Amino acid sequence: MRRELTPGRRRILDVLETAGQPLGAYEMIDRIADLSGKRPAPISIYRALDFLVENGLAHRLASRNAFLACDHGHEASDPVAFLICDTCGAVAEATSEPMQRSLEAVAQQVGFSPRSRVIEVTGTCAACQAA
Ligand SMILES: [Zn+2]
Ligand SMILES: [Zn+2]
Repeated sequence: MRRELTPGRRRILDVLETAGQPLGAYEMIDRIADLSGKRPAPISIYRALDFLVENGLAHRLASRNAFLACDHGHEASDPVAFLICDTCGAVAEATSEPMQRSLEAVAQQVGFSPRSRVIEVTGTCAACQAA
């Protein structure tokens, strides 16, 4: 998958991986402009992000309108939960078998075919609670 990335998509994934935190599209444009001296058009960024999300290389955080890289190698449709710290902004990706089964059951009950299964949980991370 990774070697099939075009240079433009590769660069956007690099920027997300280097950031290690969620970035909005315009933050990404700023970083790419700093790196390359050229400002990419927002539409090209959004297209590349769509591709990365559809292929399970990145996730979109709806509550932040931001994107972050995923190196967990799971399917794009696999259920994931994001634990988002309101204090420091840290985002942890997590999942569990029971959560996957519960989401499966919720969809099956009503004959729903999910495209993405992303849960966003906000709160306070362990480090901030200790501080
Ligand atoms: Zn992931
Ligand atoms: Zn925190």
